[in-house]
This record gives sequence, C-alpha cells and structure tokens, in this order.
Amino acid sequence: MIIDFHTHIFPPWLRERRDEYVKSDLCFSLLYSQPKARMATAEELLASMDEAGIDLSVVLNAGWVSQELCVKTNDYILDSVSRYPTRLVGFCAIQPRAGDAAIAEIERCAKAGAKGIGELRSDVQGFDLADKATMKPVVDAMLKHNLIFLTHSSEPVGHEYFGKGSITPDILYSFITAFPNLKLVCAHWGGGLPFYALMPEVTKAFANVFFDTAATVFLYKPEIFEQMSRIIGSDKILFGTDYPLIHQNRVIAQVQSSQLPEEDKARIMGANAQKLLCRDARSKSGT
Ligand SMILES: [Zn+2]
Repeated sequence: MIIDFHTHIFPPWLRERRDEYVKSDLCFSLLYSQPKARMATAEELLASMDEAGIDLSVVLNAGWVSQELCVKTNDYILDSVSRYPTRLVGFCAIQPRAGDAAIAEIERCAKAGAKGIGELRSDVQGFDLADKATMKPVVDAMLKHNLIFLTHSSEPVGHEYFGKGSITPDILYSFITAFPNLKLVCAHWGGGLPFYALMPEVTKAFANVFFDTAATVFLYKPEIFEQMSRIIGSDKILFGTDYPLIHQNRVIAQVQSSQLPEEDKARIMGANAQKLLCRDARSKSGT
C-alpha cells in the first residue's frame, strides 16, 4: 500500500480568489504569490494518485494566519475526505493564537473525522512552538482526540527557496522535548533534525516523532534515503511528496532508485504511515 503523507488540496473558490488572498493572508502570499505555484482540488489529486499508483493521500491544509481562513478551508478538507474516505485522510489547520476558537476548531475537525492538524507554520503564523501558554491547550486537545501534528520544517543552511521559512531543527527540538507525548511529523526531513539523532538523547526524544520526505527532489541528493535510514531507522520515515508542488512520480522514483532493502522501501512508502494512521486493510476497503 502506497501512502503519500504530504499533499495539499484547496477549494476551487480559493483558487479563483487567489489575488485577493495573496493580499490578505501572509502565509497565502508566501506560498502562492508566484503564479507558477500550483493549487489542486481533491479531484485533481485523485487523478494524479491514480496515475502514480498511490492508494491513499494525507491531505493537509496550510498554516494560514487568519483563523477564519483555516475554518473555511478545513470545511473543504473535511468534505473531500467524506466524499473519498478510502483514498484521502484529512489534516486541518488552526491559528494557535486564536485561543479558544482554535481549540473549538480542533474539536470540530476531530469529530468530523480529521486525523491530524497541519501543515502549520509557526514562523508565518506568528507563534512560538515551545511556548507552553499558547501550545499546551492546543497539544492537550490534539492528545485528547489522538490527532497527529504535522509542522513545516526549514533547513538552517543551504539555498533559499520560496516558502522555506525559519522553523529550524533547534525550534523543532524544543517543541519535541516540551510535548514528548504528541505524535509529531516534521515535514521535509525536519530541516535536517534527524542528523542529530547520532546524539543518544536526541534519539530518545524521537519516540513519537516521524519525518516526511516532502519536496526532497528540491532539497537533497537521493542518498538522503539511505543516510537517514541508517541514522534514525526506516521506521521513522514517511513517504510524502508535497503534491501539487511536485508530481508524485518524482519522489517515488527517488525512493525506488535508492539502494535501500525492499523491506525498508515498503516501510517508507506506506507501512509506517498505515501504522501511524491506524489504518488496517479493513478501513482501506471502506467497510
Ligand atoms: Zn512545508
């Protein structure tokens, strides 16, 4: 079973009003002010999944600054998942600075079937991941509903790119140690955080932490799959693409061309995600 843990879908109305939201939401502007940055609907994602042979995709929202935009776009994620329950898993967005409204939205999304919160961006949304006053109520609500949290991550070195941001390994590590029980996925290989797992205390802190491979083709040489598997173990790595930024086939080809044993590839491509999402064969068939 192939599971893509990192895709984005948005409602058609948002795509149509793109110019308006570029002006009104800092995150929207960061991600979509460039006309070539594609936005896809659920149906476009499904067509691309069929072409690439992907069974299931996690559809992520984005870290909008406006809580209102989070709610409106969550509606689309929840609706899409209810229309395609065997193909899509939904992650919703909140603005943690919205306080009680953010907690109420976590409750609403969990009850409507969301499996996680993400892809949040503390740098653009303007909150501190390690600040317990803001984050404890949010984390408690996620723990209560057994939700997974997915955050964008940024490399502190290397080339600049659109949307890179500043959620670097030190920031992620402070969050991980502040909230060790939360199931966390650090996108884009955690901005390089797994390299520090050669320090024993860091390995220990990763008990509930996973890393996705979204946008790898733009960031690292293909050897990253073997190197990271050696350091953190292939059971910590989740295949993710960042569709529609990248076609799924490009990341699949990277994994397949790596020198990893087949069982490691199988874990990365879907088995780890299946376990994390508690999705067995029965839920796949929708019965
Ligand atoms: Zn990201």
